[in-house]
Amino acid sequence: MEHRHLCKYNLLITRRRTSRMSLRIAKNGDVRVSVPFNVSKEEVYAFIDKHSEWIERARERLRQKYMTRDSFFAQLPLHTKAEWKVAETKLNGIIEPLVKKYVDIMGVAFPSIFFRATISRWGCCYTTRNAICFSLYLLLLPDLCIEHVVVHELAHLLEPNHSPRFYALMDQYFPRWREIRALTRRISGMEAVGRII
Ligand SMILES: [Zn+2]
Repeated sequence: MEHRHLCKYNLLITRRRTSRMSLRIAKNGDVRVSVPFNVSKEEVYAFIDKHSEWIERARERLRQKYMTRDSFFAQLPLHTKAEWKVAETKLNGIIEPLVKKYVDIMGVAFPSIFFRATISRWGCCYTTRNAICFSLYLLLLPDLCIEHVVVHELAHLLEPNHSPRFYALMDQYFPRWREIRALTRRISGMEAVGRII
């Protein structure tokens, strides 16, 4: 039996104790199918054929999301040392006063701060070294979103994990964290592609 979709998608079939077949599109565009143990490969391929339109639409939506995300980050060119330096100085000018403000309120020691051009995360906290790394791409976000990331990372100095205690600290020191986090995700096109905070 010939199945045209076999060469079109990267297909991952997982057999599970389930009563029906289901499929989803992975972040990288792969098609993942969950099937019961007793279903033959032919039946799986027929199932995929039957849903090929849905698969196409889902993959197209994913492509659009990635394009939104790529164009978002491309707004801040960081190809040269000079561009990097300008961004670093500018972001430090925003971050430092915020850190100053919140270390007092939260009662933590002033951390050492450094910057990277990460698109996978806005910030990173090294609790044992009392250091926080911020993404230069924060410059593309509104001030409130930057403030949220600052408080988030500082809260990690008090609680390293995303535990209930961590979110209780966020409720205490940055009550609008949920709303602002959603805003950040919306702006950066990270909603469905892969979350970074
Ligand atoms: Zn965190």
